[in-house]
Formats: sequence, structure tokens, C-alpha cells
Amino acid sequence: MNPFEQLGVSSEIQAAIARLGFEQPTPIQEQAIPVLLETGRDLTALAQTGTGKTAAFGIPLIQLLDASINQLQALVICPTRELCLQISRDLESYAVNIPGVEIAAVYGGSSIDKQIKAIRGGAQIVVATPGRLMDLMSRKAVHLEKVRFVVLDEADEMLNMGFEEDVEHILSFTPAVKRVCLFSATMPPEIRRIAKKYMTDPVEVAVGKANSGNANIEHEYAVVQARDKYPTLKRVLDYTGDSFYGIVFLTTKMETQDISDKLIRDGYSADCLHGDLSQQQRDKVMNRFRHKAVRILLATDVAARGIDVSGLTHVIHYNLPDAIENYTHRSGRTARAGKSGISFTLLNVRESYKLKEIEKKSGITFKRIQIPSAREVLDRKLLNFTQHIASQLVDESLFDAENFQNMEVLMAMEKQDLVKKILSLELNRFAADYLDAPDLNVSGKTAESMDQSEGGGSRVFVSVGKKDGFDTLGFKDWVADLCGLKKKQLHVYVKGVYSFVDVTPTLVPAVLEGLNGAQFNERSVRAELTASKAGGFQPEGSWKKKDDGNRGGGGGYGKKSYGDNKGRQGGGYKGKSDRKSYGSGESRGFKKRAY
Ligand code: AMP
Repeated sequence: MNPFEQLGVSSEIQAAIARLGFEQPTPIQEQAIPVLLETGRDLTALAQTGTGKTAAFGIPLIQLLDASINQLQALVICPTRELCLQISRDLESYAVNIPGVEIAAVYGGSSIDKQIKAIRGGAQIVVATPGRLMDLMSRKAVHLEKVRFVVLDEADEMLNMGFEEDVEHILSFTPAVKRVCLFSATMPPEIRRIAKKYMTDPVEVAVGKANSGNANIEHEYAVVQARDKYPTLKRVLDYTGDSFYGIVFLTTKMETQDISDKLIRDGYSADCLHGDLSQQQRDKVMNRFRHKAVRILLATDVAARGIDVSGLTHVIHYNLPDAIENYTHRSGRTARAGKSGISFTLLNVRESYKLKEIEKKSGITFKRIQIPSAREVLDRKLLNFTQHIASQLVDESLFDAENFQNMEVLMAMEKQDLVKKILSLELNRFAADYLDAPDLNVSGKTAESMDQSEGGGSRVFVSVGKKDGFDTLGFKDWVADLCGLKKKQLHVYVKGVYSFVDVTPTLVPAVLEGLNGAQFNERSVRAELTASKAGGFQPEGSWKKKDDGNRGGGGGYGKKSYGDNKGRQGGGYKGKSDRKSYGSGESRGFKKRAY
């Protein structure tokens, strides 16, 4: 029996999703579809994008609606225009074998008249972003009183974007008797409150842990100097070659545009997506990316929300995001529906705080890897090129070897000479980039030592000093002991009533935790991160807030992560033996020095 049939899915929809390549239901589909089809109950589902959640509610929605009645029966509310379009497209594809199903996508930034027409034309399902739907309601262009189904998709994202009131307003116009499904990647208390208010005894289903990384994603990072991020990106792209299909995330619009321009200038097939583009431009970019006309998309977090493109091999974090959830959102764009993918961070050591936070909060284990050397990239390029030649089909109708006049010039050459010349031709294209190209890894140094050598240490103020009887050596001993650090990891400056401890940023939590609240001469010691040394580390944005929260109590950083720091030198990455070169190893079919 077809596994979807076992869940109660109709034969028409089974045929439709078979065409989409759905062979086995995903875990969220296994749990949600029977509830929606067979129990008549409400549902809350804890599921991230990439889990197959759209089909988990979309299939039952299509199956349960009455296609013979041309009135609005189901409402799907979602946070972004992209997601809105994606959901409508998905719903249409599930409904291809059911005549009469009409779906209207309703979102801002596009002609409202067309949308009104689609609704008046008898759409049974409206997929909408909150703002545009409110607009349509106020124009009396949409009537919700016959709605039997409401789906709130990416509910946490809607809240984050400030749509809480709008969503509640919309819900208040729907009939009291209806079914509600709520999908969310996290379940903060506000979502629980909405669920309680608008849902009746919902069945709760969950896949995976909220915020946890998808098991099929390999989380990797390489430590690079800030100025080397661009050449590193290029090297990763060159090494991966034509198989690369992914999104590079950056934090600002300007940087996104800038790096995209640079890549295009350097001959890469890239494009970018950010808030300064018009809807039309964004659509164009997304279409080109979806159809693989461009294989490298540079995007800001906001612009990339709701993008669902299957088959991405890579997500690259040019910068780490400020919010941890954004890391999981970003990396969840790859490894969808059972496929595997790589989420790769170009880590400047000043960002190592963020990596640690992500590791701690999301349970993701990162693997440090080495950026391939210029030689490795060139070898890899030759390998790809050779495979390309070997697999090339010759179209005799285009290429007439018999009558090709210069054939004898080629045939007269030694075979080995000919091969060398052809391969050189390919390599010469990259010569400028790779001749004398430096090693981009922060090699031989740990993240910490690099940090200090770059003058990027952090300074912690401590409320004890010479007046308390400390001298430099005594103070260093005392700090090292309390914080579980080695003396060589610290520089101390003992002043009159206070002192400074300089450490690498990764050790700041250990210092704050060790010293804050410690008792000395019956006084409670206070330790605070100061403004950095010249050019040094300064926490930013939400990371700064976390530091602030830690002041006075040292409670913000769990002992488990930072308390056992003794002797750890590597800024969190595993030992040297764990390291691998980017993309190396059997799994990617690369053997070093193939020639
Ligand atoms: P979603 O979580 O809804 O964003 O879905 C992620 C991706 O998984 C989409 O590209 C779907 O087309 C795909 N997908 C959903 N369900 C299945 C399935 N049962 N088998 C294979 N692919 C699926």
C-alpha cells in the first residue's frame, strides 16, 4: 500500500505528489495528516521549514475542501510574500488532479485588483500575508464568515515581525466553529497564548527539537582573517565547482550588493536579494535562482525569509547572524526533505563568541575545516575538467572529424603533449587567481593566538587592586585559579583599587563567571567587560545584551560550556586530527594529487 494511502490521502492527491517525487511521508506529515484528515481536531505543530510542513497541512486542506462550492473555505496566513507564493504553488501542485480548486495568493507589493479578482472568482483557499489580508478585509473584498479552516504558518516568525495584533484581528472575523492548525518552529509563550485563545484542545505534534539542527546538515567553519573572507568564498566556490548551488548569507544590504557585484565581475554566476530591490527585481532573481540560471545567491536574512528552493548543496555564512534562530533558519535552507547539505561559516575570530553561543543553545556541533590551498583548488579543477571531457558526448552531426582540416595538426602531436596542452588551457584561466595564492587558513595558530596577535583581546575590569594587597603575580595566580585558566592565557594590570585582565574574547565568559561574585576580604568582587583595547573586540547587537545580562551574577554563561575551559586552546574547534580540508575526502570524490 502506498504509504500516503495509509495516512488517508486520496488517490488523486497521491498521484499528484508522486509526480513531485514524494515517496515516503516525512515525520511531520506522518503525524499531522491523519489528525487533520481523520480526527476533526485542531493541531499545533512544532516544525521548521524543510520538514515537509507545507504538505503536512496542504494535503489535508486540499482533500477536505469542497471543490464544487466556489466560496472561501480555507485561509492560510503566513509571514512573507515569498512563503505565500511558495505555499500557493505547493497547494496548486497537490490539487492538479482535482478540477475546480482555486487558490488565491494575497500579499503586499503586488496588484491588489488582481488579487481581489482572484478571490471574487471563487477561490476556495486564500493564502495571505496579514497586512494585505487586513487591507482586503477593510475594503470588504474578502469575507471570512464561511471559513472552515485556518492555518497559521510560521507563527513565531509572524510574531517576530510584529503581526500579532493583525493575526488576532483576522481570527476575530472567522466563524467560532472552525478548525485551526498552527505551525511554528518555536513555541514561545505568546504562541501558546494564541493557541489557547483560538484553538480547542489541539493535538500537539513535533518533529525534532525546536531550534535543533537538521541531522543531514554538516556544520563546518574555517577560521579566516576578516580581509580574507572574499578570497575564501571564491576558493570554496572554485573548489566545489559546478555542483555548487547555494545561498551566501550576509548581514547588510550594502555588503550583499557589494560581494555580489564583485563575484559577477570575477566571472561567477551570482545574484543578490535584499530589501532595496523592487518586488519585480526580487521575483526575477528568485526565478533565475530557482531555475539554476544563477547558482550563487547572496542574501540578507530578511530578504531570504520564506525562500524554499530544493536541492541546495550549500548555505554559506559570510557573517554569522546576530540571532541564533537565524543560523538555524539559514542552514535549514539546505538538506531539505532527506537530502544532505553543508552549512559553512567563514569565521573571523571575533565572531567565535557567536559560534559558541550557537553551539550551546542549539546543540549543533561544528567541525573546523581547512580552506583548500591554491594547489588543491587547481587539482580539483583539473579533475572536474577531465571528468567533464570523459563524459562528453560527441555529436557527429556537428563535429565532422573526417573533414576537420586541422585534425592532422592535432593527430601529429604526441598524445601526452596534446593532453598537457588541453589541460593547461583550462588551468591558465585560473592562473591569475591562483599563482602564488596564499594559504588563507589561520594556520599553525589557534583561534585564540591569532586573536591576540591581531590585537583583538578583550579587557575585563575587576574591582580589586593594589589596595587589596595584590601584586601582578599574586593577582594573576588568583585569577587563573578562580577562572580555571592557565596563567599564560592572561595579561593582568594591577592598579590602585581596580585591575584589568586581558584575555582573548573566547575566554571572557570564563573570566566573568570566575570572578563575578567571588569573595575577597569579605567583599563581593565585580568583574565587567570594558570597552575593548584599541582595535579590539567589542560585542555588538544581541551579543552585547548577553554580556550585559551576565554582569553582577555571572549566571548567563553555563558552567558546563565555559567552566571546563582548562587547557583548551582551540577556541572550540576539535583537535588537529579532526580537521579536514574543505570538501576533501571520499564523500566528495576528491583525491589529492590526482595528476
Ligand atoms: P517545507 O517544509 O514545506 O518547506 O518542505 C520542504 C521541501 O520538502 C519542499 O521542497 C517539498 O517539496 C519537499 N517535500 C515535502 N514533503 C516531501 C516528501 N514526503 N518527500 C519528498 N520531498 C518532500
